[in-house]
Parts: sequence; structure tokens; C-alpha cells
Amino acid sequence: MVGRRPLIAGNWKMHKTPAEAREWCAGFRTRLPSFPPGVDVVVCPPFTALEPVSTALRGHPSWVAAQTISDQPSGPYTGEISASMVFSCGARGTILGHSERRAMGETDEMVAARVRVALDAGLRPIICIGESLAERESGVTTEVLTAQLESILAVVHENEVDRIVIAYEPIWAIGTGRTATPEMAQVAVADIRIAAAARLDASRLRILYGGSVTPATARELLVSPDIDGALVGGASLDPESFAMIVEAAG
Ligand code: PEP
Repeated sequence: MVGRRPLIAGNWKMHKTPAEAREWCAGFRTRLPSFPPGVDVVVCPPFTALEPVSTALRGHPSWVAAQTISDQPSGPYTGEISASMVFSCGARGTILGHSERRAMGETDEMVAARVRVALDAGLRPIICIGESLAERESGVTTEVLTAQLESILAVVHENEVDRIVIAYEPIWAIGTGRTATPEMAQVAVADIRIAAAARLDASRLRILYGGSVTPATARELLVSPDIDGALVGGASLDPESFAMIVEAAG
């Protein structure tokens, strides 16, 4: 990851009330008042805990991101949350295109629209791409990743490369306890970097791995030359295990 800052992001998914979120923040701050120099740490709570987490982490080096945003600025979209709403709750980034949202109907076009909205609103998007088990077993992983990536990069300007993060998340590894081997993850992430080079300076693009990362597997994944950090689901819910993964990135 020459020249690229490592980034560890915790995706809490639909877990933790505001009170539980504050308790997590207190535990995390105590356990890890500072990070190894140069590591970015991002906490992605549900919408209802964005403001409490932003407040509880004030003065701490980690920053806060949402788990998605609407592609609309405001209007008759019941249940949706806009970029400016999450920004006003302290979010400075957002996960986009998570496979759990794609499974509910989010298309590449919808993800791309949200990427553009996030960038225009001053949010740093962490954009997920990944293949299913069936796609991997049919040998089309590279094609699937390239198509998802091209749709995203079509809306990103070359000078925005430092503001976006790609998360390679093989769907079969998310929440299953089945982590990709470091070799598999490195090959896929290197392929993503090669594909990105057609559009921008890919040597500056941060690409994370996500999928059942734990304190036990983090270090061997993070030493891979193209992997710039991790998007962590289940293991981010406990401040101790999340802190151990952050330490593995230092
Ligand atoms: C995720 O939600 O992005 C994720 C990678 O989850 P887990 O770490 O639980 O597999």
C-alpha cells in the first residue's frame, strides 16, 4: 500500500441503539485513545446512532460514516435519508452499494447515482463491489468486478480519486465466517486496481477487503500489497476486537 493510508471501517449494520452505541464509543476510546500513525478509522453506525456516535467520538481521531444515503436531496421519499441529513449528524462519509442493499434491489446505476450525490455533498464514499459464490465458481469474478467498478468510476472525476474508497467484498464471505484467503483477496484487489487504471490514477485508489475479517485474520490480509485496509462487519460490534483489527493495520 505504498503511499496509501490504511483505512479500517466498522459496519455496524442494523445493530445498536443510541445508548449501546455510546457505550461502544466509551469502550473504544478507552481501549484505543490513539492509533498507529497514518491509519484512518471509520465507524458506520445506523442512522439513529450517527449523531450520538459523532458526539461520543468528538476529539478522537476516528470519523463517522453512514451505511447508505438516498440519491435524492429531499422530497416525497418515505423512509429515505439524504446526504445532507447524515452530514448534519456528523457523518463525513458513507458506505454505498453494500451487497445486503444490492440484494434488496439496488442496481449498479442506483449505486453510481448515490456515489455522485455523496461526493457533491462532501461525503467520502466507501463503495462495495463483489461477486457471488456462483459467479466465482463460474470463473467470471474479474468480469463481474470490472462491470461494477466501471459503472462507479463513470461518475467519479479523476481528481476525486483520493476521496473515494472501494471495498472488495465477496458476497460469499460476508457474515459467513468464510474469509477469502489472503491470496484470493490480493488477486481480486489487484484486478480491481488494474481495471481502475483505465479511468484514473489507480496507484492512489484505496481498496479495502471485507468479508468475515477478524482479529485472527486481519494481519495476514492487510500485509497484501494491494489491500489498503478492511471493511469489518460482525467483528466491529465489539470495541476490543475492532481495536485489535485497527492495530493490525499499523
Ligand atoms: C460487511 O458488512 O461489510 C462485512 C464484511 O461483514 P462481516 O465482516 O460480518 O462479514
